[in-house]
Amino acid sequence: ATPMALMVASGRGAQLGIFLKGHRALEVSRQIDTVVFDKTGTITTGELSVIDMTIDPACGRDRDEIAALAASVESSSEHAIGAALARAVPDASVTDVEDFTAVPGCGVTGRVGGVEVMVGSPRWVGDARQVDPALVATRRDEQRRGRTVVYVALEGRVCAAVVVADAVKDSAADAIAELHRQGLRTLMVTGDNAVAAQIIADEVGIGEVIAEVLPDGKVDVVAQLQAQGCAVAMVGDGINDAPALATADLGLAIGRGTDVAIGAADIILVRHSLHTVPEALGLARETWKTIR
Ligand code: ADP
Ligand code: MG
Repeated sequence: ATPMALMVASGRGAQLGIFLKGHRALEVSRQIDTVVFDKTGTITTGELSVIDMTIDPACGRDRDEIAALAASVESSSEHAIGAALARAVPDASVTDVEDFTAVPGCGVTGRVGGVEVMVGSPRWVGDARQVDPALVATRRDEQRRGRTVVYVALEGRVCAAVVVADAVKDSAADAIAELHRQGLRTLMVTGDNAVAAQIIADEVGIGEVIAEVLPDGKVDVVAQLQAQGCAVAMVGDGINDAPALATADLGLAIGRGTDVAIGAADIILVRHSLHTVPEALGLARETWKTIR
Protein backbone atom coordinates (compact mmCIF):
# COMPACT_ATOMS: atom_id res chain seq x y z
CA ALA A 1 0.00 0.00 0.00
CA THR A 2 2.85 2.34 0.75
CA PRO A 3 4.39 2.64 -2.71
CA MET A 4 0.86 2.74 -4.18
CA ALA A 5 -0.12 5.72 -2.01
CA LEU A 6 3.08 7.49 -2.99
CA MET A 7 2.43 6.82 -6.66
CA VAL A 8 -1.09 8.16 -6.39
CA ALA A 9 0.18 11.21 -4.52
CA SER A 10 2.88 11.92 -7.06
CA GLY A 11 0.40 11.45 -9.89
CA ARG A 12 -2.03 13.92 -8.32
CA GLY A 13 0.83 16.22 -7.47
CA ALA A 14 2.07 16.22 -11.05
CA GLN A 15 -1.41 17.16 -12.29
CA LEU A 16 -1.36 20.13 -9.93
CA GLY A 17 2.21 21.06 -10.89
CA ILE A 18 3.58 19.86 -7.56
CA PHE A 19 6.74 17.73 -7.51
CA LEU A 20 7.97 16.26 -4.26
CA LYS A 21 11.68 15.56 -4.09
CA GLY A 22 11.83 12.42 -1.98
CA HIS A 23 9.76 11.17 0.92
CA ARG A 24 11.16 13.53 3.49
CA ALA A 25 8.86 16.24 2.15
CA LEU A 26 5.81 14.15 3.08
CA GLU A 27 7.00 13.50 6.56
CA VAL A 28 7.92 17.09 7.27
CA SER A 29 4.87 18.73 5.68
CA ARG A 30 2.45 17.53 8.34
CA GLN A 31 4.53 19.21 11.06
CA ILE A 32 4.74 22.63 9.39
CA ASP A 33 3.11 25.41 11.43
CA THR A 34 4.74 28.49 9.86
CA VAL A 35 5.04 29.52 6.22
CA VAL A 36 7.55 32.19 5.20
CA PHE A 37 7.16 33.79 1.77
CA ASP A 38 9.67 35.71 -0.31
CA LYS A 39 8.00 38.81 -1.83
CA THR A 40 9.27 39.50 -5.34
CA GLY A 41 8.44 36.69 -7.77
CA THR A 42 6.67 34.69 -5.07
CA ILE A 43 3.84 36.86 -3.68
CA THR A 44 4.15 39.16 -6.70
CA THR A 45 4.53 38.13 -10.35
CA GLY A 46 8.13 39.37 -10.44
CA GLU A 47 7.50 40.85 -13.86
CA LEU A 48 8.49 44.33 -12.88
CA SER A 49 8.15 47.39 -15.05
CA VAL A 50 9.43 50.91 -14.82
CA ILE A 51 6.42 53.19 -14.43
CA ASP A 52 8.00 56.52 -13.58
CA MET A 53 11.28 58.31 -13.15
CA THR A 54 11.99 61.55 -11.28
CA ILE A 55 15.09 63.48 -12.35
CA ASP A 56 17.14 65.91 -10.30
CA PRO A 57 16.84 68.95 -12.60
CA ALA A 58 20.22 70.27 -11.44
CA CYS A 59 22.17 67.11 -12.29
CA GLY A 60 22.98 68.27 -15.81
CA ARG A 61 21.82 65.13 -17.61
CA ASP A 62 18.57 64.37 -19.33
CA ARG A 63 16.12 61.57 -18.73
CA ASP A 64 17.06 59.45 -21.78
CA GLU A 65 20.74 59.65 -20.96
CA ILE A 66 20.20 58.59 -17.33
CA ALA A 67 17.82 55.79 -18.35
CA ALA A 68 20.32 54.50 -20.94
CA LEU A 69 23.25 54.50 -18.49
CA ALA A 70 21.19 52.70 -15.84
CA ALA A 71 19.88 50.18 -18.42
CA SER A 72 23.40 49.47 -19.66
CA VAL A 73 24.62 48.51 -16.20
CA GLU A 74 21.43 46.62 -15.36
CA SER A 75 21.60 44.56 -18.55
CA SER A 76 24.36 42.58 -16.80
CA SER A 77 22.19 42.07 -13.70
CA GLU A 78 20.18 38.93 -12.98
CA HIS A 79 17.77 40.77 -10.71
CA ALA A 80 14.14 41.39 -11.76
CA ILE A 81 14.66 45.10 -11.08
CA GLY A 82 17.64 45.04 -13.44
CA ALA A 83 15.57 43.38 -16.16
CA ALA A 84 12.86 46.04 -15.76
CA LEU A 85 15.34 48.89 -16.14
CA ALA A 86 17.06 47.22 -19.10
CA ARG A 87 13.69 46.72 -20.87
CA ALA A 88 12.69 50.33 -20.28
CA VAL A 89 14.96 51.71 -23.04
CA PRO A 90 15.37 50.82 -26.73
CA ASP A 91 17.98 48.06 -27.32
CA ALA A 92 20.14 50.52 -29.26
CA SER A 93 20.57 52.65 -26.12
CA VAL A 94 22.19 49.82 -24.19
CA THR A 95 25.98 49.99 -24.37
CA ASP A 96 28.88 47.98 -22.92
CA VAL A 97 29.57 48.05 -19.23
CA GLU A 98 32.99 47.73 -17.57
CA ASP A 99 33.81 46.71 -14.02
CA PHE A 100 30.29 45.46 -13.37
CA THR A 101 29.59 44.44 -9.79
CA ALA A 102 26.35 43.26 -8.21
CA VAL A 103 25.89 43.68 -4.48
CA PRO A 104 23.14 41.30 -3.39
CA GLY A 105 20.29 43.06 -1.62
CA CYS A 106 21.68 46.48 -2.56
CA GLY A 107 22.17 47.03 -6.29
CA VAL A 108 24.75 47.23 -9.06
CA THR A 109 27.67 49.37 -10.18
CA GLY A 110 29.69 49.68 -13.37
CA ARG A 111 31.27 52.09 -15.82
CA VAL A 112 29.54 52.95 -19.08
CA GLY A 113 31.46 55.05 -21.61
CA GLY A 114 33.68 56.27 -18.77
CA VAL A 115 30.75 57.26 -16.53
CA GLU A 116 30.55 55.66 -13.11
CA VAL A 117 27.01 54.32 -12.64
CA MET A 118 25.39 53.03 -9.48
CA VAL A 119 21.82 51.72 -9.31
CA GLY A 120 20.22 50.35 -6.19
CA SER A 121 18.13 50.77 -3.09
CA PRO A 122 17.72 54.38 -1.89
CA ARG A 123 19.35 53.36 1.38
CA TRP A 124 22.43 51.97 -0.36
CA VAL A 125 22.79 54.69 -3.01
CA GLY A 126 21.32 57.70 -1.25
CA ASP A 127 21.83 57.61 2.49
CA ALA A 128 25.42 58.85 2.45
CA ARG A 129 24.78 61.42 -0.29
CA GLN A 130 22.87 64.63 -0.88
CA VAL A 131 19.60 63.89 -2.60
CA ASP A 132 17.34 66.37 -4.37
CA PRO A 133 14.04 66.85 -2.46
CA ALA A 134 12.02 65.82 -5.53
CA LEU A 135 13.71 62.40 -5.48
CA VAL A 136 13.18 62.05 -1.73
CA ALA A 137 9.48 62.83 -2.23
CA THR A 138 9.20 60.21 -5.00
CA ARG A 139 10.87 57.64 -2.77
CA ARG A 140 8.49 58.35 0.11
CA ASP A 141 5.25 58.70 -1.87
CA GLU A 142 5.75 55.69 -4.14
CA GLN A 143 6.89 53.39 -1.35
CA ARG A 144 3.65 54.25 0.44
CA ARG A 145 1.82 52.84 -2.59
CA GLY A 146 3.71 49.56 -2.33
CA ARG A 147 6.11 50.36 -5.14
CA THR A 148 9.84 49.78 -5.24
CA VAL A 149 12.04 52.83 -5.76
CA VAL A 150 15.69 52.67 -6.82
CA TYR A 151 18.15 55.53 -7.11
CA VAL A 152 20.56 56.07 -9.98
CA ALA A 153 23.86 57.82 -9.16
CA LEU A 154 26.24 59.02 -11.88
CA GLU A 155 29.80 59.93 -10.91
CA GLY A 156 28.66 59.73 -7.30
CA ARG A 157 25.76 62.15 -7.71
CA VAL A 158 22.20 60.90 -7.25
CA CYS A 159 20.42 61.88 -10.49
CA ALA A 160 17.17 59.93 -10.58
CA ALA A 161 14.57 57.99 -8.60
CA VAL A 162 13.12 55.18 -10.70
CA VAL A 163 9.72 53.76 -9.73
CA VAL A 164 9.25 50.07 -10.39
CA ALA A 165 5.90 48.34 -10.07
CA ASP A 166 5.09 44.70 -9.65
CA ALA A 167 1.66 43.10 -9.52
CA VAL A 168 0.47 40.92 -6.67
CA LYS A 169 -0.45 37.43 -7.96
CA ASP A 170 -4.22 36.94 -8.36
CA SER A 171 -3.98 33.76 -6.32
CA ALA A 172 -2.15 35.30 -3.35
CA ALA A 173 -4.99 36.47 -1.08
CA ASP A 174 -6.98 33.22 -1.46
CA ALA A 175 -3.95 31.03 -0.88
CA ILE A 176 -2.95 32.95 2.25
CA ALA A 177 -6.52 32.75 3.58
CA GLU A 178 -6.49 28.99 2.96
CA LEU A 179 -3.22 28.61 4.89
CA HIS A 180 -4.75 30.57 7.77
CA ARG A 181 -7.79 28.25 7.68
CA GLN A 182 -5.35 25.35 7.96
CA GLY A 183 -4.08 27.01 11.15
CA LEU A 184 -0.74 28.11 9.75
CA ARG A 185 1.11 31.30 10.58
CA THR A 186 2.33 33.35 7.60
CA LEU A 187 5.21 35.78 7.21
CA MET A 188 6.76 37.67 4.31
CA VAL A 189 10.48 38.33 4.14
CA THR A 190 12.01 40.74 1.64
CA GLY A 191 14.98 42.90 0.87
CA ASP A 192 12.61 45.64 -0.23
CA ASN A 193 11.65 48.69 1.78
CA ALA A 194 9.47 48.18 4.89
CA VAL A 195 6.67 50.57 3.89
CA ALA A 196 6.27 49.09 0.40
CA ALA A 197 6.46 45.55 1.79
CA GLN A 198 3.75 46.22 4.40
CA ILE A 199 1.35 47.49 1.71
CA ILE A 200 1.80 44.27 -0.29
CA ALA A 201 1.41 42.13 2.84
CA ASP A 202 -1.81 43.94 3.80
CA GLU A 203 -3.15 43.48 0.29
CA VAL A 204 -2.79 39.69 0.48
CA GLY A 205 -3.46 39.25 4.21
CA ILE A 206 -0.04 38.05 5.31
CA GLY A 207 0.29 38.38 9.07
CA GLU A 208 3.86 39.53 9.60
CA VAL A 209 6.49 41.33 7.53
CA ILE A 210 10.23 41.29 7.89
CA ALA A 211 11.65 43.84 5.42
CA GLU A 212 14.99 45.35 4.43
CA VAL A 213 16.57 41.97 5.00
CA LEU A 214 19.87 41.37 3.23
CA PRO A 215 19.98 38.14 1.18
CA ASP A 216 21.88 36.25 3.91
CA GLY A 217 19.34 37.52 6.42
CA LYS A 218 16.55 35.33 5.03
CA VAL A 219 18.37 32.30 6.47
CA ASP A 220 18.58 34.05 9.84
CA VAL A 221 14.82 34.73 9.81
CA VAL A 222 14.14 31.03 9.18
CA ALA A 223 16.69 29.93 11.79
CA GLN A 224 15.27 32.31 14.39
CA LEU A 225 11.75 30.97 13.89
CA GLN A 226 13.13 27.44 14.22
CA ALA A 227 14.92 28.43 17.42
CA GLN A 228 11.53 29.59 18.75
CA GLY A 229 10.22 26.08 18.08
CA CYS A 230 8.42 26.74 14.79
CA ALA A 231 8.41 24.16 12.00
CA VAL A 232 9.08 26.38 9.02
CA ALA A 233 8.21 26.09 5.34
CA MET A 234 9.93 28.65 3.10
CA VAL A 235 8.49 29.57 -0.31
CA GLY A 236 10.76 31.39 -2.76
CA ASP A 237 11.92 31.65 -6.35
CA GLY A 238 15.25 33.41 -6.44
CA ILE A 239 18.92 32.59 -6.14
CA ASN A 240 18.94 34.66 -2.98
CA ASP A 241 16.24 32.42 -1.48
CA ALA A 242 18.26 29.22 -1.91
CA PRO A 243 20.01 29.25 1.49
CA ALA A 244 16.70 29.90 3.27
CA LEU A 245 14.97 27.15 1.25
CA ALA A 246 17.72 24.74 2.30
CA THR A 247 17.62 25.82 5.97
CA ALA A 248 13.82 25.66 6.31
CA ASP A 249 12.26 22.40 7.48
CA LEU A 250 10.53 22.38 4.11
CA GLY A 251 11.68 24.39 1.08
CA LEU A 252 9.23 25.12 -1.75
CA ALA A 253 10.60 26.58 -5.00
CA ILE A 254 7.87 28.29 -7.02
CA GLY A 255 7.26 29.46 -10.57
CA ARG A 256 10.12 29.85 -12.93
CA GLY A 257 12.34 29.34 -9.90
CA THR A 258 16.01 29.64 -10.66
CA ASP A 259 17.99 26.38 -10.85
CA VAL A 260 19.66 27.21 -7.58
CA ALA A 261 16.32 27.61 -5.80
CA ILE A 262 15.06 24.36 -7.34
CA GLY A 263 18.23 22.58 -6.21
CA ALA A 264 17.77 23.76 -2.63
CA ALA A 265 14.05 22.94 -2.35
CA ASP A 266 12.16 19.83 -1.19
CA ILE A 267 9.05 20.61 -3.23
CA ILE A 268 8.96 22.17 -6.70
CA LEU A 269 5.84 24.12 -7.65
CA VAL A 270 5.99 24.61 -11.40
CA ARG A 271 2.98 26.91 -11.62
CA HIS A 272 3.05 30.53 -10.59
CA SER A 273 -0.19 30.21 -8.67
CA LEU A 274 0.14 30.36 -4.90
CA HIS A 275 -2.82 27.97 -4.54
CA THR A 276 -0.28 25.20 -4.98
CA VAL A 277 1.25 26.01 -1.58
CA PRO A 278 -1.79 24.94 0.53
CA GLU A 279 -2.42 22.17 -2.03
CA ALA A 280 1.10 20.80 -1.68
CA LEU A 281 0.97 20.88 2.12
CA GLY A 282 -2.49 19.27 2.08
CA LEU A 283 -1.44 16.57 -0.39
CA ALA A 284 1.65 15.71 1.62
CA ARG A 285 -0.38 15.51 4.84
CA GLU A 286 -3.02 13.25 3.26
CA THR A 287 -0.43 10.98 1.69
CA TRP A 288 1.43 10.69 4.97
CA LYS A 289 -1.80 9.62 6.70
CA THR A 290 -2.37 6.86 4.12
CA ILE A 291 1.12 5.40 4.27
CA ARG A 292 1.58 5.55 8.01
P1 ADP B 1 13.72 40.95 -2.89
O1 ADP B 1 13.61 40.35 -1.51
O2 ADP B 1 12.56 41.82 -3.19
O3 ADP B 1 14.01 39.91 -3.96
P2 ADP B 1 16.53 41.81 -2.95
O4 ADP B 1 17.08 41.35 -1.65
O5 ADP B 1 16.95 41.07 -4.17
O6 ADP B 1 14.94 41.97 -2.85
O7 ADP B 1 16.91 43.34 -3.15
C1 ADP B 1 16.62 44.29 -2.17
C2 ADP B 1 16.68 45.68 -2.70
O8 ADP B 1 17.99 45.95 -3.24
C3 ADP B 1 15.74 45.95 -3.86
O9 ADP B 1 14.46 46.32 -3.41
C4 ADP B 1 16.45 47.09 -4.56
O10 ADP B 1 16.19 48.31 -3.88
C5 ADP B 1 17.90 46.76 -4.38
N1 ADP B 1 18.46 46.03 -5.54
C6 ADP B 1 18.90 44.75 -5.57
N2 ADP B 1 19.38 44.41 -6.78
C7 ADP B 1 19.20 45.50 -7.57
C8 ADP B 1 19.47 45.81 -8.95
N3 ADP B 1 20.00 44.92 -9.79
N4 ADP B 1 19.16 47.05 -9.37
C9 ADP B 1 18.61 47.95 -8.55
N5 ADP B 1 18.33 47.73 -7.27
C10 ADP B 1 18.62 46.54 -6.76
MG1 MG C 1 12.00 36.54 -5.25
